[in-house]
Amino acid sequence: MLLGSIEAGGTKFVCAVGNTNYQVQDSIRIPTTTPDETLGKVVEYFKQFDELGAISVASFGPIEIRHSSDKYGYITNTPKPGWQDTNFVGVLKQYFNIPIYWTTDVNGSAYGEYVLETLFNKPVHSLVYYTIGTGVGAGCVIDGKFVGDAGHPEMGHIKLKRHPEDINFDGICPFHGDCLEGLVSGPTFDARLGKPGKDVPLSDPTWDIMAYYVAQAAMDATAMFRPAEIVFGGGVVSEPFLDKVRKQFNELLNGYLEVGDLNDYIRMPLAKNNGSATLGNFALALKAATE
Ligand code: ZN
Repeated sequence: MLLGSIEAGGTKFVCAVGNTNYQVQDSIRIPTTTPDETLGKVVEYFKQFDELGAISVASFGPIEIRHSSDKYGYITNTPKPGWQDTNFVGVLKQYFNIPIYWTTDVNGSAYGEYVLETLFNKPVHSLVYYTIGTGVGAGCVIDGKFVGDAGHPEMGHIKLKRHPEDINFDGICPFHGDCLEGLVSGPTFDARLGKPGKDVPLSDPTWDIMAYYVAQAAMDATAMFRPAEIVFGGGVVSEPFLDKVRKQFNELLNGYLEVGDLNDYIRMPLAKNNGSATLGNFALALKAATE
């Protein structure tokens, strides 16, 4: 049996086919243009494989995940032009008579890290995954299941205590201004400093301000879920940046809870080359095919 993975992003789709050991057998990148064109190419790609047992989709959102909704399987009110109200799962169902698993991009990554850690490292029962890139999203896996019933979590939009050196920055979230995404997503570098984050050295105090906010997010996730680990992925995150986060997190936590070695508790993804979501999709597809 083969397993299909679709990592649907705002700029590109990564489609992959893997075996039941989660090894990639083939993959393709498809630019995100219009739903008709992009989903057409996705269908064309997977049609080549006769032995597909299931496909798992980890999509940009917001998406509808409630099975009771008429819009289950849709990308809903996304700001991405042309993609509002797109019946993603419906299109796949037209062409493939196999289980289609449907979740958010960040849930796919969270699941991939959960599986990797459990299979190859040490068993964990719960894990929180944040991605900090163009936007900020998070997913939470507890005992192999995702948190979220009415919808998927929106932990990128939590409210934070502002850094005293940053109070004049309004934040860039179109809905909330200075939520987590509005304060630490990649484009905040352009908004604060007029240049992209990759051109800002780690010695710049902006990184400490960012770490102050990300540490609060980690503190909140710790207090709410008490997960085994918190993983940070996405273009903004690097190991030296996470060191700053760990330091501030430690101050915030103030010895209140036991979280183990901070280098293990707050970490980068184990999957190389942004592969967390593909691996997570393979595992979710296998689950969908065999349940
Ligand atoms: Zn927001």
